Amino acid sequence: MDHSEGEGRGERGPHVAHRLSDPVVAERFAALETVGHNSSDVIVVLNHGGFVLYGNPVAQQFFELSAEEGVGTDALGLIHPEDRERVVERFLSLMERPGGSIREALRIVTPSGVVKDLELVATNSFDNPAIGGILVNGQDVTQRNRDQRELVSLAERFRVAFAENMAPMTFTDLEDRIIDVNDAMCEMVGYAREELVGQDSTIFTYTEDVGITEESHRRALAGETPQTRYVKRYRRKDGRIITVEVSRATAVGPDGQPQYFVFSERDVTEERTMTAELSKRALHDPLTGLANRSLFEDRLAHAHARARRHGGYGAVLLIDLDDFKGVNDTYGHVIGDELLAAIADRLRRVARSTDTLCRFGGDEFLVLVEEMAGGGEARAIAERILEEMAAPFSLRGTTFVQRASVGVAVFDPSAEDVSTLVQSADIALYEAKRQGRGRVVVFTPSMHLEAVSRFTLAQDLSRALERDEMSMAFQPIIDLANGEVVGYESLMRWRHPERGAVPPDVFIPLAEQSNLIYDLGAFALRVAAEAMNRLPRSDGYPPYVTVNLSARQFHDRNLPDLVRRALRLHDVAPHRLLLEITESVALEDITESLAIIEELATLGVGVALDDFGTGFSSLSYLVQLRPRAIKIDQSFVRPAAPSPQSDAILELILLLGRKLGVMMIAEGIETPAQYHRLRGVNCRYGQGFLWSPAVGLDEVEDLITRLSESPPIDHSRRRRGRMNERHVAEAD
Ligand code: C2E
Ligand code: MG
Ligand code: MG
Repeated sequence: MDHSEGEGRGERGPHVAHRLSDPVVAERFAALETVGHNSSDVIVVLNHGGFVLYGNPVAQQFFELSAEEGVGTDALGLIHPEDRERVVERFLSLMERPGGSIREALRIVTPSGVVKDLELVATNSFDNPAIGGILVNGQDVTQRNRDQRELVSLAERFRVAFAENMAPMTFTDLEDRIIDVNDAMCEMVGYAREELVGQDSTIFTYTEDVGITEESHRRALAGETPQTRYVKRYRRKDGRIITVEVSRATAVGPDGQPQYFVFSERDVTEERTMTAELSKRALHDPLTGLANRSLFEDRLAHAHARARRHGGYGAVLLIDLDDFKGVNDTYGHVIGDELLAAIADRLRRVARSTDTLCRFGGDEFLVLVEEMAGGGEARAIAERILEEMAAPFSLRGTTFVQRASVGVAVFDPSAEDVSTLVQSADIALYEAKRQGRGRVVVFTPSMHLEAVSRFTLAQDLSRALERDEMSMAFQPIIDLANGEVVGYESLMRWRHPERGAVPPDVFIPLAEQSNLIYDLGAFALRVAAEAMNRLPRSDGYPPYVTVNLSARQFHDRNLPDLVRRALRLHDVAPHRLLLEITESVALEDITESLAIIEELATLGVGVALDDFGTGFSSLSYLVQLRPRAIKIDQSFVRPAAPSPQSDAILELILLLGRKLGVMMIAEGIETPAQYHRLRGVNCRYGQGFLWSPAVGLDEVEDLITRLSESPPIDHSRRRRGRMNERHVAEAD
């Protein structure tokens, strides 16, 4: 850089430059030159007018001016406009203080427009002959300031992120001791910051979950994962337990070693209870707390997978409450609901912890049994369930017995598919109910075929009435003493368009499964009542006619009304009608049966106990029921192996009937020998193929004629040989 001397403000560059060649000036700055060249500071000398007299290389670089350009430059133009006024004022005051100095920080703008920070000390050195101007010694602090600004904003950012964060945060050292916590953290655990700093996290960790922290700490120190997330329980200072989701991050130093840990925590207590509650609601039946269908299906699929992997048997038990509807109707839904809950409790008592209990719907429950050694265990469990159910329930002062039936479907490790298992259990359940309720039936594949044909048959049956496929047939009832036809049993017939005759033993139970039974029952009554005006009695009196009733028909509240209307419509004397119910139906609920029989009796209609001797009637019940007729079951009439014992029973039944004044009718007499045997024990009435099967109304006239022309039994002869009846029966 060349030297020049500016004398006062207002002097301009070219003028100054002129002087640069001045050897005097050059000499004047020689000393400064040496110092300036080696200095890392910005060194500039200004004249009175603020023009540059000298600038060292650092200054040239700083101001982006070459030596030639630099000298004579108006320093004022280099100062940032915003700082200009302040700096000029300070320099003017410095002018007046020879030897004085000022310290100043300012921004300059280089010719290319770059803003730089300069910190300087300016000294009034006019009196110094080696300088003769203002000596400016400055430092480029641009970078330093920028760093500082950055630091400040970094700290601020950190402060906001930590102190003012709504999310709880904790810093710990390598021993997991707390270095700092933010306000949100203090609030979450209910401790003050001072109580926490210096402690380790066990102060607020739920005792059982300390291991979780230790494990995470160990892994963090081992550098296994730079970040871990886990859930543990905290115990707040007030003792309340909360569930917290914790994220741990490791801060590493320049050497790559862990320095400290940063935790951010989230209280998920409410969230968790809500999800738990929601999922519980989505997967459980609210009334009983048992699993619902979808959870059950899920468990079943898993059980199946486990059985395939590890072997072992599993089973689905479908439990259906017998006549639960009755409970609801009689005691109301509140008790009905309580009963369901009580049943669920009993199931829980029987079930093992690995079993899944499910409320399948209304009054049906499912049990999934796993890890059985064999299929047979399932039946044992089902029977235990029925045993457990057998004890009476006491709810709100009412005690009642609730029976159940169970269908069981077993799967073994080779089972391909379990999706039809519930359906199989359902088929077995149907079978259990068909066999008389209160039973356990285990599914076998043949039941499936039956179920399928049953289903299509039920469909056909529902249309049978309107398609005119149903009819009534009549089987004569004979006075065994003289061979006269005194009455008829009406039996229903179904002529299926493809299958031909379907026996009532098949279609009546099917109809009982739906309300179809009521339609069929009404049909039977109507047709029988109408026929009563046309059915002849061989001795000229009006015959009596029996109509069979199924269990549901018997309990139907509309029954008396239905009977009354049928009789009135066809103007038939009520005492000619007998309704047949089986012994077991009558005994199911003896009190109710008595009431129904009583009501029918006021109409004049009698009841006959069908299939008598097959149930386990107690004699005292029989006396109470006082049926008008008893029909002795075919198994007594045609015993598989006649024996003195069966003869004795038959005799006793007949004796009892006579004592009670009940009409005794033997069913299914096929041979003269059977006839004679019955006569030998004084049975008065009977029916059977020996005389005729049930025939259509149109055939009855012919039948009566045939029976009187060629009776199967010669009563004139028999009357003479009465004393030898028993003897004849044995000889036949
Ligand atoms: P049930 O009331 O005990 O009827 C007697 C059954 O024995 C009838 O069978 C009848 O045809 C048959 N039978 C009569 N005499 C003899 C004989 O000498 N030998 C043999 N082996 N069998 C004889 P069916 O008609 O097949 O009826 C079967 C069952 O279906 C009836 O048993 C009854 O419980 C039910 N049923 C029939 N019709 C009706 C009806 O209209 N309503 C209801 N609810 N059930 C009916
Ligand atoms: Mg009958
Ligand atoms: Mg019968």
